[in-house]
Amino acid sequence: MAFLNNNFLALPQTYLFSEIARRVSVFKEQNPEADIIRMGIGDVTLPIVPAVIEALHSAVDQMGTKDGFHGYGPEQGYDFLRETIQKHDFTDNGIEIALDEIFVSDGAKSDTGNIGDILSKNNIIAVTDPVYPVYVDTNVMAGRGGELNDGKWSNIVYLPCTKENGFVPALPTEKVDIIYLCYPNNPTGTTLTRSQLKVWVDYAKKNDALILFDAAYEAFIKDDDVPHSIYEIEGAKDCAIEFRSFSKTAGFTGLRCGYTVIPKTVKAVADNGEKVSLNPLWNRRQCTKFNGTAYIIQKAAQAVYSDKGQSQVKEMIGYYMNNTKVMKSGLVEAGFEVFGGDNAPYIWIKTPQGITSWEFFDKLLNELYIVGTPGVGFGPSGEGYFRLTAFGDKDRTLEAIERIKKWKH
Ligand code: PLP
Repeated sequence: MAFLNNNFLALPQTYLFSEIARRVSVFKEQNPEADIIRMGIGDVTLPIVPAVIEALHSAVDQMGTKDGFHGYGPEQGYDFLRETIQKHDFTDNGIEIALDEIFVSDGAKSDTGNIGDILSKNNIIAVTDPVYPVYVDTNVMAGRGGELNDGKWSNIVYLPCTKENGFVPALPTEKVDIIYLCYPNNPTGTTLTRSQLKVWVDYAKKNDALILFDAAYEAFIKDDDVPHSIYEIEGAKDCAIEFRSFSKTAGFTGLRCGYTVIPKTVKAVADNGEKVSLNPLWNRRQCTKFNGTAYIIQKAAQAVYSDKGQSQVKEMIGYYMNNTKVMKSGLVEAGFEVFGGDNAPYIWIKTPQGITSWEFFDKLLNELYIVGTPGVGFGPSGEGYFRLTAFGDKDRTLEAIERIKKWKH
């Protein structure tokens, strides 16, 4: 008889996006003519830029030759990509990261989910609330959740981020071992300044905590005082792991590539009390459970950093950020209180007085044919908020905002 990992049974049945899909499909059945605009799921819509496509083609052709064929690659990623990442994302910005501190992967979801493999089940986890659900669910799967009561897991510490605190989480009042921070933030689209992030690095160092910093939306930062990497903060190399992704930076949601930085100075405590570097343990984990990102995809990722690639992906990000501008100003004009959107592709709307996230979802769908994401789906502090993404087509985004502006809500 095989026995279950019972933690999976503790997870709620419906995942946020399947419930959204269900409601949209019921609505479509009843209103087949409705012209629905989807501003819910955070997938990109623009095609891959030409510089990346050229690199992909050329890598594919290479694979068909005897000399250019690549089989199993290094589990940590090819040096050509790691060196490019090292120079462009770190050295050029005055940050020293060694090559063997960079681990190329198939994306930030896998890495933020898998990192728990090398960390004890007994860690107390803290998450900002609302939060990217992967951090919470993967910890529940690993047995770090406890019991679910009123949308909160009993063993997880929730750090509310609401308009009342300007979406800046307060330091925990109880002991925590691991803190997930995602900035620019999904779902709120808000950021931490360098000095606000320093508070967390100082806290982690003082309290021997580990920060898991998700910088998947780093490419959308415009403001100078918002850090692109946690390693811009002094001391972060002693207490933080950083996750990056090409998904939103360069439209790789379907190609799949990201990377994780684990400085050798980041340590955790073993059962015998010894402080052990996490870098070799992650290396061991990856070598055992992961067989590397495809060569052609790593070549494509490298092309993102070429001069042509950079100007093309910047244009793409400009397109999405123009959407956020249109969305933000239109929503404000329509009388909504809105947050985020300045350094991130997400707009976080306060639902009108007395209307829950899901009620607002239903109203927007039924009255305007617009699909967004109820804030409460990202955590209890997301109740009373609603997320719209800027990854849609420019004209469709405009159309959605025009509908909202004319709406008698
Ligand atoms: N981290 C955050 C905060 C995200 O919002 C997402 C995707 O929506 C990811 C990670 C996933 O990134 P990837 O596509 O690299 O797995």
